[in-house]
Amino acid sequence: MLVTKSITKTSPPSALYQSVQYLKGVGPKRAEIFGKLGVHTIRDMLFYFPRDYKDRTRIQKISEATIGAEITIKGKVLGVQARMARSRKNILEVFVGDETGSIAATWFNQPFLTNKFHVGDRVFLHGKVGAYKYLQLLSPEYEVVQDDETTAKEGSIVPVYPLTEHMSQTHFRKIMKEAVHHFAACIDEIFPQEIIWKNQLLPINDAIVNIHFPETFENLKHARFRLVYDELFTLELAMALRKCGIKEETGVSFKIGANVDTHIRKLIPFALTHAQERVIHEIAEDMRSSKPMNRLLQGDVGSGKTVVAMYAILAAIANGYQTAFMAPTEILAKQHFQTMQRYLAHSHVRTHLLTGDTNLRQRKNSLDQIKTGQADLIIGTHALIEETVQFHRLGLVVIDEQHKFGVVQRLKLKKKGVCPDVLIMTATPIPRTLSLTLFGDLDFSLLDEMPPGRSPVKTIWVTQDREKQAYDFIKGEIAKGRQVFIVYPLVEESESFDLKSAVTEAKRLQGEVFPSHRVGLLHGQMKSSEKDKVMMDFKEKKYDILVSTVIIEVGIDIPNATVMVIVHAERFGLSQLHQLRGRIGRGSEQSYCLLFGNPTSLVSKERLKIMTRTSDGFKIAEMDFRLRGPGEFFGTRQHGLPELRISDLIKDFPILKKARSDAFELVSKDPQLTLDTHLRMRERVLETFKDRFELVNIG
Ligand code: ADP
Ligand code: MG
Repeated sequence: MLVTKSITKTSPPSALYQSVQYLKGVGPKRAEIFGKLGVHTIRDMLFYFPRDYKDRTRIQKISEATIGAEITIKGKVLGVQARMARSRKNILEVFVGDETGSIAATWFNQPFLTNKFHVGDRVFLHGKVGAYKYLQLLSPEYEVVQDDETTAKEGSIVPVYPLTEHMSQTHFRKIMKEAVHHFAACIDEIFPQEIIWKNQLLPINDAIVNIHFPETFENLKHARFRLVYDELFTLELAMALRKCGIKEETGVSFKIGANVDTHIRKLIPFALTHAQERVIHEIAEDMRSSKPMNRLLQGDVGSGKTVVAMYAILAAIANGYQTAFMAPTEILAKQHFQTMQRYLAHSHVRTHLLTGDTNLRQRKNSLDQIKTGQADLIIGTHALIEETVQFHRLGLVVIDEQHKFGVVQRLKLKKKGVCPDVLIMTATPIPRTLSLTLFGDLDFSLLDEMPPGRSPVKTIWVTQDREKQAYDFIKGEIAKGRQVFIVYPLVEESESFDLKSAVTEAKRLQGEVFPSHRVGLLHGQMKSSEKDKVMMDFKEKKYDILVSTVIIEVGIDIPNATVMVIVHAERFGLSQLHQLRGRIGRGSEQSYCLLFGNPTSLVSKERLKIMTRTSDGFKIAEMDFRLRGPGEFFGTRQHGLPELRISDLIKDFPILKKARSDAFELVSKDPQLTLDTHLRMRERVLETFKDRFELVNIG
């Protein structure tokens, strides 16, 4: 066990919640800048971790300086000179010497640095060696040694913080030093001794000291381990509490006997795959149980999730309950509605569609029937969550494309019934690393088999010089009666730029490339009634080619479309490309995905190659996640992934697994965290996840 310099407790824990202004060197103005970093209190400051470290364990002699190398030196200021260059650049030169020689530290256009240095000061400098008339360090990092107590000792490891432009590392470090020196000792340990011992964790106070100012890399490693474990344990504890809380609720025990089963199967027009059978079995088991189902159904695009959902829906309805089926977009809700109506044409199920587009009269009518129980299956968008929607007897909630909805929305819909069963479907394969953290409170089912008769989509990377050939190929496919998607990227910074590119490209393609074909246009800024019309027209073969932005990404089913061109493919995430590609290859004909792109970096080239090599959504997701990191993986924050300050879900996966099993074990022993030794952890979980998680039965 590692022991660092013992720290004595000087102030009570409440001192941590004082404003950072309380720290020496932080006035109202600086406090405002800190606020932008999310640092408001002294505690925030202590938990604002370095993004990197500089190894200054080896101080070099000035005589060792060689041009081009990075070097750390310690010396005395011999002279300070500020002057104006002919280029009207302001140049500051500080001459520094040690017992072996001297060197100039040079800064351009930073006149305010001039009075930081005085002849006789002792300084550390770190930077790259250059030479002009004499040896120079160009814009080095610097530290003026003022007081041996508070400055980094010679030979230290120096933290580097993620800062904005208006703050210098040197200054921030100094304030951090203040904070750590006076307040690290005030942080209360939340873990019981048992967890600390078992995992060989550093006490929190030592961890904070060592994450900022480690004396050795060994100490840093221990500090980081403690803090990563801490962060992931808290997260998993929240998951464990939720999962456990849900299991303790009492929901509906549906009766799904041979009779119901036979009835449902009569409505399914094909033989189910083994995977579908297995998942239906898992779901039926959950539904029979009095514990509420909370299950995530993962299955690649086209794996046949809808019919699995239909089984659950019909089982609930056969038991006299209503089902809500929520989809993320208007188009997708409508498509589900049509699919269900087709499947259910010969049944007595009363199906309603409720979206933002539903007209007032229809809406009022639907709301009445939902309330009185005359509607059985209600399909819609988030319009379903609105307060005016009241169910008579909601027994099952099905949510499609889960990651587009936040955890909060999921709960809102669930609350409309009394502990209804919940089935969440997603076509986005979620890497294990993420699913454990994002959906750790759910059970999992996986459709890992495609329905028969599909040949995988052939994916070809088309460079600019071969675009013409590609267009000729497309014409050949159209001649065979097939249809084509041409997709343009959505440029985040500027919606209108995106709009223009799809619009102008549609014109260009129609006029110059495909003059004798029918080109349709679909983009994100069209009204949803217009979008639907274009989509329907395409489905009815009124267009050969549909030029669109990525809004066709989710769910659209047009088996006759066998070619998809994705322009600027390098701009899309891999998972997004995979989703898009899933829109084709839905019929019996061979389909082709043409990735137009001229990537410049090695990584983006590699990404396109991955797409041409594999059609396994899980492999692609895992690589995408590795290449882009968890933050960008889902694009936005609304997926409910909590902000991780120090953990890296990929690198720290083993710690995540450990923290998860520890957290679940703890909750199985103390489901409400009411033991004295667990109270602090309970407080922490509630504090950390107050907006994101609605913890059942605790709080
Ligand atoms: P997804 O998982 O992407 O939602 P769908 O449920 O839309 O997939 O199914 C894709 C297509 O495959 C649909 O046209 C559906 O009718 C068909 N399908 C699903 N299961 C089977 C099966 N077992 N045999 C044949 N076709 C199936
Ligand atoms: Mg689907």
